[in-house]
Amino acid sequence: MAIFVVQEHHAKKLHWDFRLEVGRVLKSWAVPKGPSLDPAEKRLAIQVPDHEYEHGDYEGIIPEGTYGAGAVLPWDHGSFEAVDPDDAGTGLQAGKLSFRLLGNRLKGEFALVKMRGPGREKAWLLIKKQDAHAQPGWRIPILLTEAVAKRLLVKVPKCAFKEQP
Ligand code: MN
Repeated sequence: MAIFVVQEHHAKKLHWDFRLEVGRVLKSWAVPKGPSLDPAEKRLAIQVPDHEYEHGDYEGIIPEGTYGAGAVLPWDHGSFEAVDPDDAGTGLQAGKLSFRLLGNRLKGEFALVKMRGPGREKAWLLIKKQDAHAQPGWRIPILLTEAVAKRLLVKVPKCAFKEQP
C-alpha cells in the first residue's frame, strides 16, 4: 500500500505540502489553502519537485536563508490508493487521478486534475469527491500553536497563529 503525507509549512506564505507515494518518490504539490473535505472547495495545488521518500514525515525548522525557510509540521499521513486509473503514475501523467485516502484527517475519495492553458503547467486542482467523508463547510485546522512553536524553538510572527487561508 502506498502512503500519502501532508505537511503544514509556515514558509514565507503558509501552505500545505501534499505528497503521494508514486514509484519510489513522493509526488508533491504545494496547496496554498490546504486540502479540504468540502467538495465545493476546489483547491489550487502547485506541483513542486518530487520529494525523497525518507523525508516525508519531517518535522522541524528549515533554516533562514534556505528555500522554504520556516516551520514544517506533520499535518496528516496514511495510506493512499489509486482508484481511476488504478495506476497512479499513469493517471498523473494523463493529468487526472482519482484516489482514496485513509488518513487521520483526510479520508475518502479525492481527485487531482491538471489545469489547462498557458502558464498553468504546474497548476492542478485538488478536489474532495462526494462520499460519506465529505464535510461541507469544513475548515482546515492549523496545528502551529504557541506551544508547538516553543517546542520547535521557532520564532513565529504572532499573526501566524491567527492566519486563516
Ligand atoms: Mn512547502
